[in-house]
Parts: sequence; structure tokens; C-alpha cells
Amino acid sequence: MKTNKLLVIFSYPLVFFLSLFLINTQIFAGECKGAGVAITFDDTYVDSWYDARNLFSRYNAKATYFVSQPDSINAEGFSKLRRLQYWGHEIASHTLDHKGIASHYNSDPALIDDYEDEQIVPSIKKLERQALRISTFAHPFGQYTEEYNEMLKQNFIFLRATAYSNSNRPVAEVEEAFFSRENTTGLIYGVGIDNIYNNPLSEIEDGLIAAKNNNEVLILYGHKITNDEGRYHIPPSKLEDILRIAYELELEFYTISELRALCRYFYE
Ligand SMILES: [Zn+2]
Repeated sequence: MKTNKLLVIFSYPLVFFLSLFLINTQIFAGECKGAGVAITFDDTYVDSWYDARNLFSRYNAKATYFVSQPDSINAEGFSKLRRLQYWGHEIASHTLDHKGIASHYNSDPALIDDYEDEQIVPSIKKLERQALRISTFAHPFGQYTEEYNEMLKQNFIFLRATAYSNSNRPVAEVEEAFFSRENTTGLIYGVGIDNIYNNPLSEIEDGLIAAKNNNEVLILYGHKITNDEGRYHIPPSKLEDILRIAYELELEFYTISELRALCRYFYE
């Protein structure tokens, strides 16, 4: 009897602290995930993305595809996008006509409504009409302003811009490209993996290790997955190396909308 009473007395604070721990780590929501990588692709290279599907499934990996010019995609292309979505990849918006805020709308605050009506709403509608769930966005040419982003945040939960490495700043030091729980702005940055961005595999690997060590998500972006030489192309072998390294580091593969599930704290 005595032991039972003691047990009851001690169990209340224990339950209290345990529930705090569970809430903080989001275990209740069933969606708390650790350090990871979010691989993204832009534009309309649906066939090349679909052809790379087995690379991703080999490592149980997922990507986010930011689709522009939906009017140029035929029924077969949409069917491929639906299948990618069904397999856990995310389809997202990259405007209707690939028009940039600076290059096509002069970053003019007076044109924000036009941008929304001409580039954003029709893009979402045309993709959603194809049974694609759209909740995130990538800026064409990485162009944005604070004012335009305010409008975009009414339409999307994350906006992806671009960040650049250089000879003095390898991938692991491009801080903007690492998503952490401290980022509550909804604005995120990817660092490039296409040939033009000159980020060798070893530097991308250092970036993945940094994400692991800091409980963050490294965000990467590319365009077309192909062995054809081209500035905005990434060879399948390089993509597979990135997937394999991330897999071996036991990093999580995030789609962009899933970034919300990053745990607040380190956990084993
Ligand atoms: Zn683009």
C-alpha cells in the first residue's frame, strides 16, 4: 500500500516532465525528424526527373519539384508528376511563365497584385487541377523582395530562393542554405548542384556533414538530371553520390513542406 502511494506521488511530476519532453520533440505529432537534406529541382524537366525515380527509391529518398510553365506539360507529363507525388515526392510552384520579380515586374510594389493574378494563382490552379498538392514555391532566378514575399506567404508555407558558394565560401559555409528551427520566416535558400555552380561532390559532402553536426537541413537545387553536358544539368552519377552520402550519414530526406517537422532538439 505504501509503495503504491509513493508511486502515485512520484509519477505525477514524472508524467508532467515526460509530456513536456514529448511535446517539445513533437513526438505526439508523429512527425519529428532529425538533421537532413532537401533536394529540389526547378522548371519543366519532368521526363528527366521521372527517369531518375529509381535513384531516389534506391535510397528511400524524396525530392521537391518546382514546376514552371504548366501549360507546356502534356497529359503524360502530369501523369508522371502525379506518380512522383504518390511516391512521396513533392510537386510545387515556380510561377506560370517563369517570370522573375525583378526581371519582369521591376520589383515594383504596385505590381504585386498583378504578379499574384498572372503568375501565382494560375500556376497553383493549373497544378491543382491535375491533382497535385501545392504548398511551396521557388522564386524564378532567385529574385524576391520583402513586399512580394508578404503576398507569396499568403499562398505558400515556404518560399525558396537561391544562395551561392564561391572560392572563399564552400557549400558548408553558405549559412543561408541550412534550414534550422530558428528559421521562422518561411524564406529558405538552396545551393546549386548543377554543373554551372561548381560545387564539387567533396564540398557538398562537407555540407551534408555540417547539417548532420548542427541538426539542420541542407537545401540543394538543380534543374535537369542528365548526362548531356549543359550548365543547368546534373549527371545522374553525381546525384546518386549525393543520395548515397546522405543515406550513409543517416540524414533524413525532406521535401520542402516537410521542413516544418525538423526537431527542435538533437535526438539520438
Ligand atoms: Zn527556374
